[in-house]
Amino acid sequence: MEGDTIAAISTPVGEAGIGIIRVSGPKAHSIGEKVFRPKGGGGQGAAGLPDKLESHRLFYGHVIDAGTSEVLDEAMACFMASPRTYTREDVLEIDVHSGPRVLSRVLSAVLAAGARAAEPGEFTRRAFLNGRLDLAQAESVMGIIRAQTDAARRAAVEGLDGRLSKEIGRARRGIMQALAYIEATLDFPDEEIDPVPEGWLESRVEEALRVIEQLVASAGTGRILREGLPTVIAGRPNVGKSSLLNALLGTERAIVTPVPGTTRDAIEEGLNVRGIPLRVIDTAGLRQAVDAVERIGVERSRELVHRAGLVLLVLDAAEGLTADDREIAQELVGTGAPVLVILNKVDLGKPTVTERDIREVLPSGAVLLVSALTGEGLVELEEAIYQAVTGGRVMLGEGVAAGTARQEAALREAARYLNEARNSLRTTGGLDLAAIDLRGAADSLGRITGETAGEDLLDEIFSQFCIGK
Ligand code: GDP
Repeated sequence: MEGDTIAAISTPVGEAGIGIIRVSGPKAHSIGEKVFRPKGGGGQGAAGLPDKLESHRLFYGHVIDAGTSEVLDEAMACFMASPRTYTREDVLEIDVHSGPRVLSRVLSAVLAAGARAAEPGEFTRRAFLNGRLDLAQAESVMGIIRAQTDAARRAAVEGLDGRLSKEIGRARRGIMQALAYIEATLDFPDEEIDPVPEGWLESRVEEALRVIEQLVASAGTGRILREGLPTVIAGRPNVGKSSLLNALLGTERAIVTPVPGTTRDAIEEGLNVRGIPLRVIDTAGLRQAVDAVERIGVERSRELVHRAGLVLLVLDAAEGLTADDREIAQELVGTGAPVLVILNKVDLGKPTVTERDIREVLPSGAVLLVSALTGEGLVELEEAIYQAVTGGRVMLGEGVAAGTARQEAALREAARYLNEARNSLRTTGGLDLAAIDLRGAADSLGRITGETAGEDLLDEIFSQFCIGK
């Protein structure tokens, strides 16, 4: 347990029904007694005022400035004694009305009573340091807060429950067993080590590798759930790209939240298609730029397409395939991203663009007939998007270990080490080398759950949290 006591406003600072100030550390109780004055027969029966804040009970009363005795607000306060708390330290939570002034006055009163202002993520960091959560679970807390869709939320809740940690623990145990055996063999070559069955060592490594490879495979899904799939709407001007985006936004049932844009020359919108979060980018167009200013936009568009996980190529069904369309389609071939071709404006009559025209320039990718104006074909488009992303697999929900970019990188590193170790074991006398790689793999995995995470890594992770979390 750390020595000092931290405090922060744990709810967004704005006008709302309730705002919460959270305090954690050894002084939590004494701070509560200084700044909170319970009213009525709180915890001590009808006889009178409770003389102290009993643990895990909610009290009604007032928050006061301990210096001047000024009443700052009506409040509810709950003191929770260590260790059954979020941080495993003593915790005090004070609920007041939410408003910038009242929250900052209450926080000041708490600080004056002996706390210091918490750093971003410091409550969760303490939960980690005190062993209540491992690092992967701590990151899941942020995953829950940031989840934009229900699927992302579900995956993060599973992460908090320790699903990823359990799998990693399983792989790491196998590696440690193999390592212990190798080290014993190397350190005491003359002694009789308990013999293991033929192939035991290899199978420990194989098993660990299998677990890790499955986790790596699911990490891509985790990333999509967390960050949204970068999706580009491509097409020459006036084919209906913006209309299509608006139509898709209009049909969605979930709440749409604007994603902080990384590009200035393209609109970026968060879109939820059957539980899959998409970050849709409506580009400035891909045709050759005529002047320098436009060229910047076009270059940006190219770059975006190359990084896209999905491209929606919009064509004007009524106008036929133009030279610009062909050029854009050519650009898309070779990006590797799945392309869905959308023949828009089908409300204007039978399309003049045929599937064969399209196949000449774009060998694969579903072709969909859509009208952004009337909404025709949008359900089919959503289905096609879902299929393109999931590949027909039911990917969202079960079996997903949502990984952050950091976790994914560490998993890949562990898999590389394990592959090397396996190769070394196949050659005679490779035990030394195998041990080095197994140690590397165990360290990589330990960085995910936190056993081998240094201060720098912890700083990096927890600084991404909000204050009060
Ligand atoms: P963008 O330049 O590709 O973004 O195209 P816009 O979305 O701005 O659309 C260009 C024009 O086409 C606008 O006048 C739209 O109203 C019209 N438009 C877009 N989609 C449809 C459609 O499905 N049917 C019809 N008839 N018009 C459409």
